[in-house]
Amino acid sequence: MNLLRPNIASMNGYVPGFQPADIASWIKLNTNENSYPPSPKVVEAILAELGPDGASLHTYPSASSQKLREAAGELYGFDPSWIIMANGSDEVLNNLIRACAAEGEEIGYVHPSYSYYATLAEIQGARVRTYGLTDDFRIAGFPERYEGKIFFLTTPNAPLGPAFPVEYIEELAQRCAGMLVLDETYADFADGNALDLVRKYDNVVVTRTLSKSYALAGMRLGLAIAHPEIIAALDKIRDHYNLDRLAQAACVAALQDQAYLKECCGKIRKTREWFSAELRTIGYNVIPSQGNYVFAASPDRDGKRIYEGLFARKILVRHFSDTILCHGLRISIGTQPEMEKTLAAIKEIG
Ligand SMILES: *Cc1c(COP(=O)(O)O)cnc(C)c1O
Repeated sequence: MNLLRPNIASMNGYVPGFQPADIASWIKLNTNENSYPPSPKVVEAILAELGPDGASLHTYPSASSQKLREAAGELYGFDPSWIIMANGSDEVLNNLIRACAAEGEEIGYVHPSYSYYATLAEIQGARVRTYGLTDDFRIAGFPERYEGKIFFLTTPNAPLGPAFPVEYIEELAQRCAGMLVLDETYADFADGNALDLVRKYDNVVVTRTLSKSYALAGMRLGLAIAHPEIIAALDKIRDHYNLDRLAQAACVAALQDQAYLKECCGKIRKTREWFSAELRTIGYNVIPSQGNYVFAASPDRDGKRIYEGLFARKILVRHFSDTILCHGLRISIGTQPEMEKTLAAIKEIG
């Protein structure tokens, strides 16, 4: 159809992880959601914001989400002018490409990591270059000077699990002529993060989300932390009312309940270590993970077969058809009872 831009007409859309209709009858470990509920304070805040008969909903929400920037700024130790809130971190990833990469210009990322970067680049008409990983978990063949407009680094890496050392990320920041975007979706489950580099390098942006660690995937809440000049540019691009009232109320309550976050992430980390060790005892190679998921593969078992065996038992995990990943599975870490059932099912499948 010649009404469409050729790159839009020819592109494949992004395919998100499968969301079954009868979700309650599954153990759902395929999209790294949190199996625990969000903080009870989040639910209270949403109900309070809604008011009797939904009275608050007839007026627009705050356009700037200023209270959220303040709450996030307080939590991470940045002035609110260094923070932008987003309708899921996907929104801010999209706007970073719109802000930095013109048609025909290049963005880069590690493969395997988050393939949505490529979809966003295609929409923009930007070119994409991917880099593999070395055995010691560094970017293979990363140039002395990377000239692309943005390099996206998912750290901790998903689907594999390890985080890149901060010293290495700092070296990458120096080697990037354009922006280095650190997608720290899973940082709350990790031993550390690279937030300090945002202060030190004006080409470093960190993105975070409340979808995974805060158990709020359904609210669509993300953020970016960057130099105020970058934040100001992103503010020009976003939808002016990008976060609805209920999401804004939920976000402040969630960020302010750090005790709940720590307890929840602590449980998941503990289960992650237990589950990884158990899988190793039955012959799986499990990459040490800093996220709320593990990538596990077994030299004498086919990833697809295990996936199908689990599917038949109403346990949903992620199998990638990509040749470098198809031998294994990415399994989100749910509650301890969910993971005990999953382990029993994997043993049964053999
Ligand atoms: C889940 C995920 C996102 C998207 O997060 P939202 O805030 O839900 O949009 C971004 N990057 C990575 C690596 C993810 O796994």
